[in-house]
Amino acid sequence: MAERAPSGAAPAFRRVLLKLSGEALMGDHDYGTDPKTVDAIAREIVGVQGEGLELAIVVGGGNIYRGISAAAEGMDRATADYAGMLATVLNALALQDALERLGADTRVLSALEVSEVAEPYIRRRAMRHLEKGRIVIFAAGTGNPFFTTDTAAALRALEIGAEAILMAKNGVSGVYDGDPRQDPAARFVPELTHLEAIERGLRVMDTTALSLCMDNSLPIHVFELAEGNIVRVASGERLGTVVATPPAAS
Ligand code: UDP
Repeated sequence: MAERAPSGAAPAFRRVLLKLSGEALMGDHDYGTDPKTVDAIAREIVGVQGEGLELAIVVGGGNIYRGISAAAEGMDRATADYAGMLATVLNALALQDALERLGADTRVLSALEVSEVAEPYIRRRAMRHLEKGRIVIFAAGTGNPFFTTDTAAALRALEIGAEAILMAKNGVSGVYDGDPRQDPAARFVPELTHLEAIERGLRVMDTTALSLCMDNSLPIHVFELAEGNIVRVASGERLGTVVATPPAAS
């Protein structure tokens, strides 16, 4: 029996994709993962999943490795990006371990083949795992260099028919018209369309990911990864910023 955080609230979605950046797993550390932080996130995830929500997770790798930073220091970009994708596999395993210690049933599906530690990404298999109540963790991003795990989140969410992307951010409560950590005058934006986010250059996720969501009318809920927030957003509470494009009038 999974150890559940008392979420109490019924989920507002049937199936969602949760995007966790690598930094979200870092806690107060400068690098890598903080077991206490990973455990706290895992408890919330197990809580909402236990209420009947089908939950897939895309995990980033920026707490360990960012291809673009290594490329800036002279490394071949594609090679650096492959290293970045492998970093996401490390995070996926840490998260899987934390979830399973709480009794959850999980599977890591990797876009790069690492068959000793994770299943290969197969869309139908991912959907089957979700139907069976397993938490699916997508590792290794899209499997392609020059992309990010934000794009992987958009892509996988669409592939598995998720109703929304839940985008948990570190230290920011949603979308601002500037960087609130650097500019105290930055204003909070409670809702906007995908196109507005792209045109105004607002940092929801990168433009490749945003345009994929826009073209396929996939809403994004951007919220701060603070205690209880995954549960709140999953149960439909209005938190942070909602990026959505209303269907065109016919
Ligand atoms: N990456 C990639 N292709 C992908 C996803 C990720 O090449 O489809 C690489 C890229 O180098 C990136 C790194 O993996 O910098 C870590 O992912 P990301 O920066 O998206 O992680 P996050 O910011 O979410 O922690």
